[in-house]
Amino acid sequence: MEMDRKPPWLRAKIPGGPEYAKVRDLVKVNKLHTVCESAHCPNLGECWSRGTATIMILGETCTRSCRFCAIATGKPGEVDFGEPARVADAVRIMGLKHAVITSVARDDLPDGGAEIWARTVRAVKLVNPDTHIEVLIPDFKGEEQSLNTVLDADPDILNHNMETVRRLQKPVRVQARYDRSREVLQRAKERGFVTKTGLMLGIGEREEEIEETLADLAEVKVDILTLGQYLRPTEKHLPIDRWVTPEEFARWKERALGLGFGVCESGPLVRSSYHAEEQSAKYTGWTPAPIGVGAG
Ligand code: SF4
Repeated sequence: MEMDRKPPWLRAKIPGGPEYAKVRDLVKVNKLHTVCESAHCPNLGECWSRGTATIMILGETCTRSCRFCAIATGKPGEVDFGEPARVADAVRIMGLKHAVITSVARDDLPDGGAEIWARTVRAVKLVNPDTHIEVLIPDFKGEEQSLNTVLDADPDILNHNMETVRRLQKPVRVQARYDRSREVLQRAKERGFVTKTGLMLGIGEREEEIEETLADLAEVKVDILTLGQYLRPTEKHLPIDRWVTPEEFARWKERALGLGFGVCESGPLVRSSYHAEEQSAKYTGWTPAPIGVGAG
């Protein structure tokens, strides 16, 4: 069933205002990519107006072809070794206390891009010693060495999205694997990192499958969980199976907290980095600015 009209609870803020313009210009001048734009995120207006953006490194072309994702698939360009310094500078200018960095999957590179990841984390820390860094990483095809390269740079939060339940991995994430992604989270936890993951709901999963996934993630002691509504970026992407109501999201949040997750952000417009600074506050020991008061 495809649903043409969004329910009222999915109406997002229209972009605008001075903070929005500042982030937009900064992204352009520094030749940065943001997942906010590339993934057609419905929260772009709200986040940019608050002075926050999720920076995407390693280009804007992905080697994978997840069927929910708006990012272009193809052959990525050359690795840009100037990128870590530019990202560090953008974080400084935005004045971020909590920076979320993500990347496309770079299965074309022997290390999956781990070295650039590590350099970026180190550069951001060097220029912004008080900023907490959340890395939203790909699975590096399960290569433990690549994961360790990123972890050795010492980010504050290791985020890797499961995206959906076990049965739907192949149709939704195509080249990814449920157990491989879970192992990324487990390995990071075993090294003592704060871990975070996210699921989209409304893409065809059944209630008992959500339950099973939450239990699997609780078993590897994931700290932070995000749950949000799947939105179809274009006609070429998987159709929406159902609109999940705010009440159902609230129920899943309670369930997750009951299973032992430290923080669960659950709602129709929740995305992996949505209000990330507030989610992480519990783990990083600082008090974030209230919502709507600028950059985190
Ligand atoms: S790996 Fe990430 S960026 Fe690439 S297509 Fe999948 S979700 Fe999109």
